[in-house]
Amino acid sequence: MQPTEELFRDDATLAECDATVLAVETDGGIVLDRTVFYPQGGGQAGDAGELLATDGRRVAIADTRKHPEHPGVVVHRAAEGADLSWLAPGTAVRAAIDVARRQAHRRFHSATHLLCALVPQPVDGCSITAGYARLDFHMTEPLDKDLLGAGLARLVAEARPVHTRWISEDELDANPQLVRSMSVQPPRGQGRVRLVEIEGLDLQPCGGTHVANTAEIGAVVVTKIEKKSAKTRRVVLGFADT
Ligand SMILES: [Zn+2]
Repeated sequence: MQPTEELFRDDATLAECDATVLAVETDGGIVLDRTVFYPQGGGQAGDAGELLATDGRRVAIADTRKHPEHPGVVVHRAAEGADLSWLAPGTAVRAAIDVARRQAHRRFHSATHLLCALVPQPVDGCSITAGYARLDFHMTEPLDKDLLGAGLARLVAEARPVHTRWISEDELDANPQLVRSMSVQPPRGQGRVRLVEIEGLDLQPCGGTHVANTAEIGAVVVTKIEKKSAKTRRVVLGFADT
């Protein structure tokens, strides 16, 4: 099965694209030749949305995952009970994501990179959803909720541009300090790795969807800091405006 063309990697603002169905799997997984749907990975939840036909038929997509057997193939998971009878290899569809959910993922994901800049310890866990983001730091010292919240607000207000660029796996191997996270290793096997840079602040391999400027993150708050284990401090973020 050919790898899916992942349009969201180079433009996280794309809300929809035209695509062709390549396969409909027995468990309701739909494979397209190209997509704007981000598959769960790197701690970030998958996109939801819908696939639309030109005649108005549609199928709701509840989640997006990486294919368990075929590297680089994105699987769109149809919502429970969806009618897939009109979908077959060759069917033309318009793939449209749930933009509000994606925007929440973008804001939270970039916010977690700001947290990485504020807390220099290694990351050993990460979860980014539309409702919250949490990041686990490998450390024993306590973290101050108010200080972190103020730091985040300052970095958001600095309105720093966020860029992505690709490097080869060989370049990454030559610069191991770029791997910021202990648990989330950059996706391998396609010869190149994407870097996300928050100008003047943070640079790390990451395949996720980000805002274009930290100002777009808006009002985030540290809702909780937990001592998850003797060597882990968990920081949970929420939106102040929801
Ligand atoms: Zn990331």
